[in-house]
Amino acid sequence: MTIIDIIKGLKNNHFSCYELINFLLKTIKKNNKSLNNFITIEYKNALKDANKSDFLRKFNQNNELHGVPIAFKDLFCTKGIKTTCGSKMLTNFIPTYNSTLIERIKHAGLINLGKTNMDEFAMGSFNENSFFGLVKNPWNLKLVSGGSSGGSASAISAGLIPVSLGTDTGGSIRLPSSFCGITGLKTSYGFLSRYGIISYSSSLDQAGPMAHTVKDCAILLNIISGYDTFDSTNLNLQKNNYLKFLNNSLKGKKIGLPIEYFKNIAAKVSYIIQETINVYTKLGIEFFDISLPYIDTAISAYYIIASAEAASNLAKYDGIKFGYYKRNPKSLEELYFKTRTKGFGKEVKNRILIGAYLLNKYNYLIKAKKIRKIIYNNFIKSFKKVDCIFIPTTNYVAKQIHTKKNKTLNIQEDIYTISVNLAGLPSINIPIGFVNKCPIGLQVITPHFTEHLLLNIAHYFQQHTHWHLNYPNVL
Ligand code: GLN
Repeated sequence: MTIIDIIKGLKNNHFSCYELINFLLKTIKKNNKSLNNFITIEYKNALKDANKSDFLRKFNQNNELHGVPIAFKDLFCTKGIKTTCGSKMLTNFIPTYNSTLIERIKHAGLINLGKTNMDEFAMGSFNENSFFGLVKNPWNLKLVSGGSSGGSASAISAGLIPVSLGTDTGGSIRLPSSFCGITGLKTSYGFLSRYGIISYSSSLDQAGPMAHTVKDCAILLNIISGYDTFDSTNLNLQKNNYLKFLNNSLKGKKIGLPIEYFKNIAAKVSYIIQETINVYTKLGIEFFDISLPYIDTAISAYYIIASAEAASNLAKYDGIKFGYYKRNPKSLEELYFKTRTKGFGKEVKNRILIGAYLLNKYNYLIKAKKIRKIIYNNFIKSFKKVDCIFIPTTNYVAKQIHTKKNKTLNIQEDIYTISVNLAGLPSINIPIGFVNKCPIGLQVITPHFTEHLLLNIAHYFQQHTHWHLNYPNVL
Protein backbone atom coordinates (compact mmCIF):
# COMPACT_ATOMS: atom_id res chain seq x y z
CA MET A 1 0.00 0.00 0.00
CA THR A 2 0.99 3.59 -0.56
CA ILE A 3 0.69 6.27 2.13
CA ILE A 4 -2.53 7.40 0.47
CA ASP A 5 -4.01 3.86 0.64
CA ILE A 6 -3.06 3.54 4.30
CA ILE A 7 -4.59 6.86 5.28
CA LYS A 8 -7.80 5.87 3.46
CA GLY A 9 -7.86 2.47 5.17
CA LEU A 10 -7.40 4.01 8.61
CA LYS A 11 -9.97 6.76 8.01
CA ASN A 12 -12.60 4.32 6.75
CA ASN A 13 -11.90 1.84 9.54
CA HIS A 14 -10.90 -0.93 7.15
CA PHE A 15 -8.21 -1.74 9.70
CA SER A 16 -6.98 -0.21 12.92
CA CYS A 17 -3.47 1.12 13.17
CA TYR A 18 -2.66 -1.63 15.68
CA GLU A 19 -3.85 -4.33 13.25
CA LEU A 20 -1.81 -2.83 10.42
CA ILE A 21 1.40 -2.41 12.41
CA ASN A 22 1.06 -5.81 14.05
CA PHE A 23 0.59 -7.47 10.65
CA LEU A 24 3.56 -5.64 9.13
CA LEU A 25 5.88 -6.42 12.05
CA LYS A 26 5.03 -10.12 11.81
CA THR A 27 5.54 -10.09 8.05
CA ILE A 28 8.85 -8.24 8.35
CA LYS A 29 10.08 -10.80 10.88
CA LYS A 30 9.00 -13.72 8.70
CA ASN A 31 10.58 -12.31 5.56
CA ASN A 32 13.76 -11.07 7.19
CA LYS A 33 15.19 -14.59 7.19
CA SER A 34 15.27 -14.56 3.41
CA LEU A 35 15.44 -10.86 2.45
CA ASN A 36 17.59 -9.66 5.39
CA ASN A 37 16.42 -6.09 4.80
CA PHE A 38 16.08 -5.08 8.48
CA ILE A 39 18.89 -4.80 11.03
CA THR A 40 16.58 -3.80 13.90
CA ILE A 41 12.82 -4.38 14.14
CA GLU A 42 11.03 -2.05 16.56
CA TYR A 43 8.34 -4.42 17.92
CA LYS A 44 7.51 -2.87 21.27
CA ASN A 45 7.66 0.84 20.51
CA ALA A 46 5.85 0.46 17.18
CA LEU A 47 2.90 -1.35 18.78
CA LYS A 48 2.78 1.21 21.58
CA ASP A 49 2.73 4.03 19.02
CA ALA A 50 0.04 2.21 17.04
CA ASN A 51 -2.24 2.06 20.10
CA LYS A 52 -1.66 5.74 20.72
CA SER A 53 -2.42 6.53 17.11
CA ASP A 54 -5.72 4.58 17.23
CA PHE A 55 -6.65 6.47 20.38
CA LEU A 56 -5.92 9.86 18.78
CA ARG A 57 -7.85 8.94 15.65
CA LYS A 58 -10.86 7.90 17.71
CA PHE A 59 -11.05 11.39 19.17
CA ASN A 60 -10.06 13.16 15.94
CA GLN A 61 -6.91 14.45 17.56
CA ASN A 62 -4.62 12.98 14.92
CA ASN A 63 -2.46 14.51 12.22
CA GLU A 64 -3.25 13.38 8.68
CA LEU A 65 -0.28 10.98 8.73
CA HIS A 66 -0.71 9.53 12.20
CA GLY A 67 -0.11 5.79 12.18
CA VAL A 68 1.59 5.55 8.77
CA PRO A 69 4.45 3.04 9.02
CA ILE A 70 8.00 3.88 7.96
CA ALA A 71 11.56 2.54 8.51
CA PHE A 72 14.94 4.26 8.25
CA LYS A 73 18.26 3.36 6.71
CA ASP A 74 20.42 2.45 9.68
CA LEU A 75 22.58 5.57 9.50
CA PHE A 76 19.93 8.00 10.74
CA CYS A 77 20.52 8.52 14.46
CA THR A 78 17.46 7.35 16.37
CA LYS A 79 17.24 8.18 20.06
CA GLY A 80 17.41 5.04 22.19
CA ILE A 81 17.47 2.75 19.13
CA LYS A 82 20.61 1.01 17.91
CA THR A 83 22.14 2.76 14.89
CA THR A 84 24.81 0.57 13.30
CA CYS A 85 25.56 2.07 9.88
CA GLY A 86 25.88 -1.56 8.74
CA SER A 87 29.16 -1.87 10.66
CA LYS A 88 30.59 -4.01 13.45
CA MET A 89 32.16 -0.77 14.66
CA LEU A 90 28.72 0.57 15.69
CA THR A 91 26.92 -2.66 16.65
CA ASN A 92 26.36 -1.32 20.16
CA PHE A 93 25.87 2.38 19.35
CA ILE A 94 22.65 3.79 20.79
CA PRO A 95 22.31 7.51 19.95
CA THR A 96 21.08 9.91 22.61
CA TYR A 97 19.28 12.07 20.07
CA ASN A 98 17.22 11.89 16.86
CA SER A 99 18.50 13.22 13.57
CA THR A 100 16.50 16.26 12.45
CA LEU A 101 14.63 14.37 9.71
CA ILE A 102 13.62 11.58 12.11
CA GLU A 103 12.46 14.15 14.66
CA ARG A 104 10.21 15.78 12.04
CA ILE A 105 8.79 12.43 10.93
CA LYS A 106 8.07 11.42 14.53
CA HIS A 107 6.38 14.74 15.11
CA ALA A 108 4.11 14.12 12.10
CA GLY A 109 2.95 10.88 13.74
CA LEU A 110 4.51 8.22 11.48
CA ILE A 111 5.48 4.97 13.18
CA ASN A 112 9.04 3.63 13.00
CA LEU A 113 9.04 -0.12 12.29
CA GLY A 114 12.81 -0.39 12.40
CA LYS A 115 16.21 0.27 10.89
CA THR A 116 17.00 -1.07 7.45
CA ASN A 117 20.13 -2.88 6.30
CA MET A 118 22.77 -1.05 4.28
CA ASP A 119 26.31 -1.29 2.96
CA GLU A 120 28.80 -0.59 5.74
CA PHE A 121 29.13 3.19 6.14
CA ALA A 122 27.13 3.49 2.87
CA MET A 123 30.08 2.26 0.81
CA GLY A 124 28.89 0.03 -2.00
CA SER A 125 26.50 -0.34 -4.89
CA PHE A 126 25.03 -3.78 -4.22
CA ASN A 127 24.41 -4.06 -0.47
CA GLU A 128 26.85 -6.93 -0.21
CA ASN A 129 29.16 -5.00 2.16
CA SER A 130 27.01 -5.01 5.31
CA PHE A 131 28.40 -6.54 8.53
CA PHE A 132 24.86 -7.91 8.96
CA GLY A 133 24.86 -9.80 5.68
CA LEU A 134 23.70 -9.01 2.17
CA VAL A 135 20.19 -7.84 1.27
CA LYS A 136 18.21 -9.78 -1.30
CA ASN A 137 16.01 -8.47 -4.07
CA PRO A 138 12.30 -9.35 -3.62
CA TRP A 139 11.90 -9.69 -7.40
CA ASN A 140 14.34 -12.57 -7.44
CA LEU A 141 16.07 -13.89 -4.35
CA LYS A 142 19.16 -14.78 -6.34
CA LEU A 143 19.75 -11.10 -7.11
CA VAL A 144 21.19 -8.25 -5.04
CA SER A 145 18.95 -5.40 -3.88
CA GLY A 146 21.43 -2.73 -4.89
CA GLY A 147 23.12 -0.41 -2.42
CA SER A 148 23.82 1.24 -0.24
CA SER A 149 20.18 1.92 0.78
CA GLY A 150 19.31 -1.67 -0.22
CA GLY A 151 17.39 -2.59 2.93
CA SER A 152 14.95 0.28 2.40
CA ALA A 153 14.48 -0.44 -1.32
CA SER A 154 13.99 -4.16 -0.73
CA ALA A 155 11.49 -3.57 2.12
CA ILE A 156 9.38 -1.09 0.12
CA SER A 157 9.42 -3.26 -2.96
CA ALA A 158 8.28 -6.29 -0.91
CA GLY A 159 5.39 -4.28 0.54
CA LEU A 160 6.75 -4.35 4.12
CA ILE A 161 6.75 -0.55 4.46
CA PRO A 162 5.23 2.13 2.22
CA VAL A 163 8.11 4.61 2.57
CA SER A 164 11.60 4.99 3.92
CA LEU A 165 14.43 7.46 4.20
CA GLY A 166 17.73 6.70 2.48
CA THR A 167 20.90 8.60 1.67
CA ASP A 168 22.69 9.06 -1.63
CA THR A 169 26.40 9.92 -1.88
CA GLY A 170 26.97 8.54 -5.35
CA GLY A 171 23.71 6.77 -6.24
CA SER A 172 22.71 4.91 -3.10
CA ILE A 173 19.04 5.91 -3.27
CA ARG A 174 18.64 5.71 -7.04
CA LEU A 175 20.50 2.48 -7.79
CA PRO A 176 18.66 0.19 -5.32
CA SER A 177 15.41 1.93 -6.31
CA SER A 178 16.09 0.97 -9.93
CA PHE A 179 16.98 -2.64 -9.03
CA CYS A 180 13.92 -3.06 -6.77
CA GLY A 181 11.40 -1.19 -8.96
CA ILE A 182 10.57 1.72 -6.65
CA THR A 183 10.72 5.52 -6.71
CA GLY A 184 13.69 7.14 -4.94
CA LEU A 185 14.56 10.82 -4.68
CA LYS A 186 18.02 12.27 -4.09
CA THR A 187 17.54 15.92 -3.18
CA SER A 188 19.81 18.86 -4.07
CA TYR A 189 22.90 19.19 -1.87
CA GLY A 190 21.94 21.56 0.96
CA PHE A 191 18.21 20.91 0.57
CA LEU A 192 17.72 18.63 3.59
CA SER A 193 19.36 18.69 6.98
CA ARG A 194 22.18 16.18 7.46
CA TYR A 195 22.18 16.65 11.22
CA GLY A 196 22.32 13.24 12.90
CA ILE A 197 23.08 11.32 9.72
CA ILE A 198 26.31 9.31 10.06
CA SER A 199 28.64 10.83 7.48
CA TYR A 200 30.39 9.06 4.66
CA SER A 201 31.45 11.92 2.38
CA SER A 202 30.17 15.21 3.75
CA SER A 203 30.29 17.23 0.52
CA LEU A 204 28.30 14.57 -1.37
CA ASP A 205 25.89 12.94 1.13
CA GLN A 206 22.22 13.88 0.84
CA ALA A 207 19.13 12.20 2.21
CA GLY A 208 15.84 11.61 0.43
CA PRO A 209 12.55 9.71 0.47
CA MET A 210 12.03 6.28 -1.09
CA ALA A 211 8.49 5.05 -1.86
CA HIS A 212 6.30 3.38 -4.47
CA THR A 213 5.09 6.63 -5.94
CA VAL A 214 6.28 10.15 -6.64
CA LYS A 215 3.26 11.38 -4.70
CA ASP A 216 4.37 9.57 -1.54
CA CYS A 217 7.86 11.06 -1.98
CA ALA A 218 6.23 14.51 -2.13
CA ILE A 219 4.25 13.80 1.05
CA LEU A 220 7.44 12.85 2.88
CA LEU A 221 9.33 15.81 1.47
CA ASN A 222 6.66 18.13 2.87
CA ILE A 223 7.44 16.76 6.33
CA ILE A 224 11.23 16.63 6.24
CA SER A 225 12.13 19.76 4.28
CA GLY A 226 12.79 23.10 5.96
CA TYR A 227 15.73 24.96 7.40
CA ASP A 228 17.74 23.45 10.24
CA THR A 229 20.23 25.57 12.14
CA PHE A 230 21.99 22.39 13.34
CA ASP A 231 23.44 21.78 9.84
CA SER A 232 25.61 24.59 8.48
CA THR A 233 25.34 23.21 4.91
CA ASN A 234 21.54 23.26 5.00
CA LEU A 235 20.14 26.22 3.07
CA ASN A 236 17.37 28.45 4.29
CA LEU A 237 14.95 27.88 1.40
CA GLN A 238 11.32 28.74 1.05
CA LYS A 239 9.15 25.91 2.40
CA ASN A 240 6.82 24.47 -0.24
CA ASN A 241 3.85 22.15 -0.40
CA TYR A 242 5.22 19.74 -3.00
CA LEU A 243 1.85 18.10 -3.60
CA LYS A 244 0.61 21.35 -5.10
CA PHE A 245 3.09 21.18 -7.98
CA LEU A 246 2.49 17.57 -9.01
CA ASN A 247 -0.16 18.27 -11.64
CA ASN A 248 1.25 21.48 -13.09
CA SER A 249 1.15 21.64 -16.86
CA LEU A 250 4.35 20.51 -18.56
CA LYS A 251 3.50 22.02 -21.93
CA GLY A 252 6.53 23.57 -23.61
CA LYS A 253 9.07 21.88 -21.35
CA LYS A 254 12.29 20.66 -22.94
CA ILE A 255 14.16 17.53 -21.94
CA GLY A 256 17.82 16.84 -22.73
CA LEU A 257 19.35 13.43 -23.48
CA PRO A 258 23.15 13.51 -22.95
CA ILE A 259 24.71 11.61 -25.85
CA GLU A 260 27.61 10.34 -23.72
CA TYR A 261 25.24 8.49 -21.39
CA PHE A 262 23.24 6.84 -24.16
CA LYS A 263 26.19 5.67 -26.26
CA ASN A 264 26.72 2.24 -24.74
CA ILE A 265 23.24 1.47 -23.53
CA ALA A 266 22.08 -2.15 -23.82
CA ALA A 267 19.46 -2.65 -26.55
CA LYS A 268 16.72 -3.79 -24.14
CA VAL A 269 17.28 -0.82 -21.80
CA SER A 270 17.40 1.55 -24.74
CA TYR A 271 14.04 0.21 -26.00
CA ILE A 272 12.38 0.81 -22.63
CA ILE A 273 13.78 4.33 -22.40
CA GLN A 274 12.45 5.08 -25.90
CA GLU A 275 9.00 3.92 -24.77
CA THR A 276 9.30 6.30 -21.80
CA ILE A 277 10.24 9.16 -24.10
CA ASN A 278 7.16 8.37 -26.22
CA VAL A 279 4.91 8.86 -23.17
CA TYR A 280 6.30 12.38 -22.79
CA THR A 281 6.31 13.31 -26.48
CA LYS A 282 2.58 12.58 -26.59
CA LEU A 283 2.19 15.61 -24.35
CA GLY A 284 4.17 17.77 -26.74
CA ILE A 285 7.36 17.75 -24.66
CA GLU A 286 10.39 18.08 -26.89
CA PHE A 287 13.60 16.07 -26.55
CA PHE A 288 17.06 17.35 -27.48
CA ASP A 289 20.48 15.73 -27.67
CA ILE A 290 22.87 17.48 -25.32
CA SER A 291 26.47 16.82 -24.35
CA LEU A 292 27.82 16.16 -20.85
CA PRO A 293 31.46 15.26 -21.41
CA TYR A 294 33.96 14.01 -18.80
CA ILE A 295 31.77 11.19 -17.55
CA ASP A 296 34.76 8.83 -17.30
CA THR A 297 36.74 11.30 -15.23
CA ALA A 298 33.72 11.70 -12.95
CA ILE A 299 34.38 8.20 -11.56
CA SER A 300 37.96 9.06 -10.57
CA ALA A 301 36.98 12.45 -9.19
CA TYR A 302 34.16 10.91 -7.16
CA TYR A 303 36.26 8.11 -5.65
CA ILE A 304 39.08 10.53 -4.77
CA ILE A 305 36.79 13.03 -3.04
CA ALA A 306 34.61 10.39 -1.37
CA SER A 307 37.54 8.33 -0.06
CA ALA A 308 39.43 11.37 1.26
CA GLU A 309 36.35 12.68 3.09
CA ALA A 310 35.55 9.18 4.38
CA ALA A 311 39.06 8.75 5.80
CA SER A 312 38.60 11.99 7.69
CA ASN A 313 35.01 11.26 8.82
CA LEU A 314 35.84 7.75 10.01
CA ALA A 315 38.91 8.79 12.01
CA LYS A 316 36.69 9.26 15.07
CA TYR A 317 36.05 5.50 15.38
CA ASP A 318 39.14 4.88 17.48
CA GLY A 319 37.85 2.71 20.31
CA ILE A 320 37.73 5.58 22.77
CA LYS A 321 34.74 7.78 22.07
CA PHE A 322 32.06 5.27 21.08
CA GLY A 323 31.31 2.03 19.37
CA TYR A 324 33.24 -1.23 19.30
CA TYR A 325 36.63 -1.34 21.04
CA LYS A 326 39.38 -3.82 21.68
CA ARG A 327 39.37 -4.78 25.36
CA ASN A 328 42.49 -4.70 27.53
CA PRO A 329 44.90 -3.23 24.99
CA LYS A 330 48.57 -3.11 25.95
CA SER A 331 49.01 0.41 24.61
CA LEU A 332 47.07 3.26 23.06
CA GLU A 333 48.46 2.26 19.68
CA GLU A 334 47.26 -1.27 20.09
CA LEU A 335 43.79 0.03 21.04
CA TYR A 336 43.57 2.08 17.83
CA PHE A 337 45.11 -0.60 15.67
CA LYS A 338 43.06 -3.56 16.87
CA THR A 339 39.81 -1.62 17.18
CA ARG A 340 40.02 -0.36 13.62
CA THR A 341 41.36 -3.63 12.20
CA LYS A 342 38.51 -5.66 13.72
CA GLY A 343 35.74 -3.04 13.70
CA PHE A 344 35.79 -2.10 10.01
CA GLY A 345 35.05 -4.37 7.05
CA LYS A 346 37.30 -4.83 4.02
CA GLU A 347 35.72 -2.23 1.73
CA VAL A 348 35.74 0.46 4.44
CA LYS A 349 39.40 -0.19 5.29
CA ASN A 350 40.24 -0.05 1.61
CA ARG A 351 38.70 3.39 1.29
CA ILE A 352 40.25 4.70 4.52
CA LEU A 353 43.71 3.66 3.30
CA ILE A 354 43.21 5.21 -0.14
CA GLY A 355 41.64 8.31 1.42
CA ALA A 356 44.44 8.79 3.93
CA TYR A 357 46.98 8.52 1.13
CA LEU A 358 45.06 11.05 -0.96
CA LEU A 359 44.87 13.52 1.91
CA ASN A 360 48.66 13.40 1.94
CA LYS A 361 48.99 13.78 -1.82
CA TYR A 362 46.87 16.88 -2.02
CA ASN A 363 47.40 17.32 -5.78
CA TYR A 364 45.00 14.51 -6.57
CA LEU A 365 42.30 16.17 -4.51
CA ILE A 366 42.84 19.51 -6.22
CA LYS A 367 42.52 17.86 -9.64
CA ALA A 368 39.41 15.97 -8.56
CA LYS A 369 37.84 19.22 -7.37
CA LYS A 370 38.62 20.86 -10.70
CA ILE A 371 36.88 18.02 -12.53
CA ARG A 372 33.97 18.39 -10.13
CA LYS A 373 33.68 22.06 -11.05
CA ILE A 374 33.78 21.28 -14.80
CA ILE A 375 31.02 18.69 -14.37
CA TYR A 376 28.98 21.21 -12.38
CA ASN A 377 29.48 23.91 -15.05
CA ASN A 378 28.47 21.52 -17.84
CA PHE A 379 25.19 20.78 -16.11
CA ILE A 380 24.54 24.49 -15.54
CA LYS A 381 25.23 25.17 -19.24
CA SER A 382 22.86 22.39 -20.30
CA PHE A 383 20.10 23.73 -18.08
CA LYS A 384 20.21 26.96 -20.09
CA LYS A 385 18.95 24.89 -23.06
CA VAL A 386 16.66 22.35 -21.39
CA ASP A 387 14.45 22.20 -18.27
CA CYS A 388 15.26 18.63 -17.38
CA ILE A 389 17.71 15.83 -18.23
CA PHE A 390 17.05 12.09 -18.54
CA ILE A 391 19.86 9.62 -17.86
CA PRO A 392 19.50 5.86 -17.40
CA THR A 393 19.92 4.97 -13.71
CA THR A 394 21.77 1.85 -14.77
CA ASN A 395 22.60 0.00 -17.93
CA TYR A 396 21.79 -3.34 -16.37
CA VAL A 397 19.38 -5.05 -14.00
CA ALA A 398 20.36 -6.27 -10.51
CA LYS A 399 23.28 -8.70 -10.68
CA GLN A 400 23.42 -12.18 -9.18
CA ILE A 401 24.43 -12.34 -5.53
CA HIS A 402 28.15 -12.96 -4.97
CA THR A 403 29.18 -12.58 -8.60
CA LYS A 404 32.84 -11.86 -8.29
CA LYS A 405 33.59 -8.88 -10.42
CA ASN A 406 36.75 -7.04 -10.97
CA LYS A 407 36.86 -4.01 -8.67
CA THR A 408 37.29 -1.50 -11.49
CA LEU A 409 34.25 -2.89 -13.26
CA ASN A 410 32.28 -2.64 -10.03
CA ILE A 411 32.95 1.05 -9.60
CA GLN A 412 32.41 1.71 -13.32
CA GLU A 413 28.79 0.80 -12.69
CA ASP A 414 28.32 4.01 -10.72
CA ILE A 415 28.98 6.02 -13.86
CA TYR A 416 25.32 6.93 -14.41
CA THR A 417 24.63 8.25 -10.94
CA ILE A 418 27.72 9.97 -9.51
CA SER A 419 27.91 13.09 -11.69
CA VAL A 420 24.64 14.26 -10.16
CA ASN A 421 26.21 14.10 -6.68
CA LEU A 422 29.37 15.87 -7.81
CA ALA A 423 27.16 18.66 -9.19
CA GLY A 424 24.85 18.65 -6.13
CA LEU A 425 21.73 18.28 -8.28
CA PRO A 426 18.36 16.71 -7.44
CA SER A 427 17.50 13.46 -9.22
CA ILE A 428 14.76 10.86 -8.94
CA ASN A 429 14.64 7.24 -10.07
CA ILE A 430 11.33 6.13 -11.52
CA PRO A 431 10.54 2.55 -12.55
CA ILE A 432 10.05 2.38 -16.34
CA GLY A 433 9.79 -1.30 -17.17
CA PHE A 434 11.37 -4.73 -16.93
CA VAL A 435 14.31 -6.50 -18.54
CA ASN A 436 14.40 -10.29 -18.02
CA LYS A 437 11.61 -9.94 -15.42
CA CYS A 438 13.72 -7.48 -13.37
CA PRO A 439 12.79 -3.82 -12.86
CA ILE A 440 14.77 -1.03 -14.46
CA GLY A 441 14.66 2.69 -13.76
CA LEU A 442 15.32 6.08 -15.27
CA GLN A 443 16.82 9.16 -13.63
CA VAL A 444 15.08 12.47 -14.03
CA ILE A 445 17.35 15.43 -13.20
CA THR A 446 16.42 19.13 -12.89
CA PRO A 447 18.35 22.27 -11.84
CA HIS A 448 19.41 22.89 -8.22
CA PHE A 449 16.53 23.32 -5.79
CA THR A 450 13.79 22.67 -8.34
CA GLU A 451 12.49 19.57 -6.54
CA HIS A 452 8.94 20.79 -7.31
CA LEU A 453 9.60 20.55 -11.08
CA LEU A 454 11.40 17.23 -10.72
CA LEU A 455 8.45 15.67 -8.89
CA ASN A 456 6.04 17.24 -11.38
CA ILE A 457 7.82 15.66 -14.38
CA ALA A 458 8.21 12.27 -12.69
CA HIS A 459 4.60 12.25 -11.45
CA TYR A 460 3.33 12.82 -15.00
CA PHE A 461 4.87 9.49 -16.05
CA GLN A 462 3.26 7.64 -13.15
CA GLN A 463 -0.12 9.11 -14.07
CA HIS A 464 0.16 7.51 -17.50
CA THR A 465 1.89 4.20 -16.76
CA HIS A 466 1.69 1.40 -14.21
CA TRP A 467 5.33 0.33 -13.69
CA HIS A 468 5.44 1.76 -10.16
CA LEU A 469 2.42 -0.34 -9.19
CA ASN A 470 4.02 -3.74 -9.84
CA TYR A 471 4.77 -5.82 -6.75
CA PRO A 472 6.89 -8.96 -6.49
CA ASN A 473 5.04 -11.92 -5.08
CA VAL A 474 6.97 -12.60 -1.88
CA LEU A 475 4.61 -12.08 1.05
N1 GLN B 1 28.58 3.18 -4.87
C1 GLN B 1 29.05 4.43 -4.39
C2 GLN B 1 30.10 4.23 -3.33
O1 GLN B 1 30.31 3.12 -2.91
C3 GLN B 1 27.91 5.27 -3.85
C4 GLN B 1 27.50 4.95 -2.47
C5 GLN B 1 26.48 5.91 -1.89
O2 GLN B 1 25.81 6.64 -2.62
N2 GLN B 1 26.40 5.93 -0.57
O3 GLN B 1 30.74 5.17 -2.92
